[in-house]
Amino acid sequence: MPPGKPATSRVIERGRWTLRIVRSRRRRKTIRSEVIDEATLEIRAPWHCSEGEILRVADVLIAKTERNLAQRASREQDGFLEERARLLNERHFGGKLRWRQVRFVTNQRKRFGSCSPSRGTIRISDRLRSAPLFVLDYVLVHELAHMIEPNHSAAFWKLVNRFPKAERARGYLMAWQQLQHEQEEE
Ligand SMILES: [Zn+2]
Repeated sequence: MPPGKPATSRVIERGRWTLRIVRSRRRRKTIRSEVIDEATLEIRAPWHCSEGEILRVADVLIAKTERNLAQRASREQDGFLEERARLLNERHFGGKLRWRQVRFVTNQRKRFGSCSPSRGTIRISDRLRSAPLFVLDYVLVHELAHMIEPNHSAAFWKLVNRFPKAERARGYLMAWQQLQHEQEEE
């Protein structure tokens, strides 16, 4: 390879996927994938990885992508968020909360959710469609708790921490945000 060339790419077919494999000198450690469209995955790998190594990891990434897509599809269905919110209301708020609308939105890149207690609306970032269910549930509990306590007061956190995996979910969201930040910088 000519020195200084930043990246090279090639395309291979793998099952129902077309893989666009990009080797980059800038990428140092991990192999990552990104869904380009419903049949194309871009696999980004460090320069030094062998083809066999890349394909081994690509298969794992394909399986993960297919799981995520299936999960997303089930969460596209109308009423999914309403159903989760209703369940969490029963479990953690004695079923006493009322709202007008809970829905996914695509315009929340920085926040994971928001709540307007006066309007009775809760909006959840659609990035969470591919999050583990306990993480999505945590964000819902967080926003539902704002129906009672609009601010992040001690009373608010007491409500939120009724959710058994609150601490784990917060850790997950922090790590996720960090990862996204790093990917944007690449
Ligand atoms: Zn909040």
